[in-house]
Amino acid sequence: MSRKLLLENAHIPGIGGYDVYRQHGGYRAVEKALKTMSPDTVLDEVKKSGLRGRGGAGFPTGMKWSFLAKPEGVPRYLLCNADESEPGTFKDRFLMEKIPHLLIEGMIVSSFALGANTSYIYIRGEYSWIVFILEKAIAEAYAKGWLGKNIQGSGFDLDLYVNPGAGAYICGEETALIESLEGKRGNPRIKPPFPAVRGLWQSPTVVNNVETIAAVVPIIIDGGDEYAKIGVGKSTGTKLISAGGNINKPGVYEIDLGLPVEEFIYSDEWCGGIKNGKRLKACVPGGSSVPILPHFLVSKTANGDQRLMTYESLSDGGFATGSMLGSGGFIVYDEDQCIVRNTWNFTRFYHHESCGQCSPCREGTGWMEKVLWRLENGQGKMGDMDLLVNVAKNIEGNTICPLGDAAAWPVGSAIRHFREEFEWHVREPEKCMRGNYGLVRESKTALEQLQG
Ligand code: SF4
Repeated sequence: MSRKLLLENAHIPGIGGYDVYRQHGGYRAVEKALKTMSPDTVLDEVKKSGLRGRGGAGFPTGMKWSFLAKPEGVPRYLLCNADESEPGTFKDRFLMEKIPHLLIEGMIVSSFALGANTSYIYIRGEYSWIVFILEKAIAEAYAKGWLGKNIQGSGFDLDLYVNPGAGAYICGEETALIESLEGKRGNPRIKPPFPAVRGLWQSPTVVNNVETIAAVVPIIIDGGDEYAKIGVGKSTGTKLISAGGNINKPGVYEIDLGLPVEEFIYSDEWCGGIKNGKRLKACVPGGSSVPILPHFLVSKTANGDQRLMTYESLSDGGFATGSMLGSGGFIVYDEDQCIVRNTWNFTRFYHHESCGQCSPCREGTGWMEKVLWRLENGQGKMGDMDLLVNVAKNIEGNTICPLGDAAAWPVGSAIRHFREEFEWHVREPEKCMRGNYGLVRESKTALEQLQG
């Protein structure tokens, strides 16, 4: 049984409103931070907790905060990245819908630590109804003296705004988010300078994910050391996972980091096993941009170690035999799912969402989409797999922002682990077009190749 630090109260009726949230201990972290702590001691607790960015990159939050430049007389900003658009990921949506005050509380404490007096929640445009939920909660917080001038007599001022995006995935990249917030087209910036030095309106800025900011609340209430006791190694605390695909119990779960992946899939406490009693074919553990794991690498790493839900264990083996925890969008595929169709679908998404600034991403995603389409539609050639790998390699590491990598990794890993399924699409064009691939066909995997 995992602890619930973020979602413990999520199912209490009325918890979305201020009164019920307050009755259940809401805003205690703000009281503690503003009345008994300094910004530096809040930062120390976050550092001690070992909290890492929950949006995908997993960078240590305390370290990110400590990079923030503090020139005299220049405003600093905290931006909450609520532009959750990664296919398969919907955990921030759940948190904001159910307990909006938890995010607001985290924003107040985090802004206090960073010395930010104006902060923003940048939310994806498609979450239009959550904009209203957040704005209502922010209005309640202002009315009760948790936002605005001299919060609860502490001398700390904070204004908090919600800014809806216009529906572009790329605005989840922090510099594109900043551009968009400034009213411009959401194109990622070339770094350096990093936002910690020159971010929103050229001022020092921290951008953190919704879950990361919410996690600051239990860290301040219980202390960073307590938080760090949960988890394994450098993967501390709890993690929200949005589980979907061919499982019996799709949903949003809060797990202790370190939970075995197999237990997460098969336990009734979590995903409840594969739907309709079918066999597991593969899973994508961290959202559409991370490498796919074939079934035999889901429960164990290539070294034979148990695969755990941690940053380190999921990436064990690098991209040859590992994947990433990423954004926590956990997608499960049963034996009947077509890897070629799935890869084409992801690639189509990344091609559509490319901002077009870099040639490798703009052109490469388009070519990969075209080649995958012809494979899926019975027009593929035997050289297509090598062509796709070549294009993916030429995108990877050669772009301004990580969207290029995000587009390349699913393609490279799918061909690495399921090359025979791709070849079957070329050999059996009629069958693949009718979509009756039907069986788990064991491909010659990277693991088997490593084992000779
Ligand atoms: Fe735009 Fe793609 Fe380049 Fe990112 S990698 S800046 S999305 S073209």
